[in-house]
Amino acid sequence: MTFTVDQKYTEQEIATNIAILQENIEKARLKSELAADKVNLIAVSKMHPPVHIEKALKAGHRIFGENKVQEAAKKWPALREKYKNIELHMIGPLQTNKVGQMLQHFDVLHSLDRPKLARVLAKEMDKQGKRIDCFIQLNTGNEDQKSGHDPEKAGKFIQYCQDELDLPVVGLMCIPPIDQDPEVHFGFLLKLAQDYGLKCLSMGMSSDYRQAVRFGSTHVRIGTSIFGPRVGKKEHHLLEHLP
Ligand SMILES: *Cc1c(COP(=O)(O)O)cnc(C)c1O
Repeated sequence: MTFTVDQKYTEQEIATNIAILQENIEKARLKSELAADKVNLIAVSKMHPPVHIEKALKAGHRIFGENKVQEAAKKWPALREKYKNIELHMIGPLQTNKVGQMLQHFDVLHSLDRPKLARVLAKEMDKQGKRIDCFIQLNTGNEDQKSGHDPEKAGKFIQYCQDELDLPVVGLMCIPPIDQDPEVHFGFLLKLAQDYGLKCLSMGMSSDYRQAVRFGSTHVRIGTSIFGPRVGKKEHHLLEHLP
């Protein structure tokens, strides 16, 4: 696999990035009554090679996110051998034919977004005898190109996953449209999670994690502010998000 990444951050710099983020998360948390008691920092390592990811592992970080099953399958088995207690989160769109492999490599799924995927997942969990926590992803901006279930029908889908398929649904996830105020989307997700008694909220990235934390996020997904830019095809806009 070829990576087109700027790996200029040292282990020390990555440790500092993580510490700054934890501090900012804590500050945001203390500012809001809606904030969760605990916020998990998911270090999004997609497109970064193992040598770069290891800098975060050496700094003691253990929670990571990837958005492609294939890429995770190549990178993480060796890292799991070397470092214990890793928690790997699947945060990208998932095809039904990858569900089996996903379940082998990941500990949490953030992108459960359609009935067919839910059915395949339930079956595969039975088959492998492995159940992992799931977030239901909602397309709160109703964007054509973005994955996520229709927010208008969220209630029905949540109940379908929980009651009919007995999936371990722990929370909701969204990615706000880049041209909109993210707080509207975070507020919407928080209200829905409360209505359905769901404890977790996966929201907030490098650009908007402080706002997400103030609206009750329990899992922020941060890549650029930890590892630096993923200098690839479509990623140039992320250069703005450095700490
Ligand atoms: C890449 C990605 C992130 C991290 O984005 P940054 O802006 O680099 O922090 C978060 N969530 C999802 C779903 C992603 O695909």
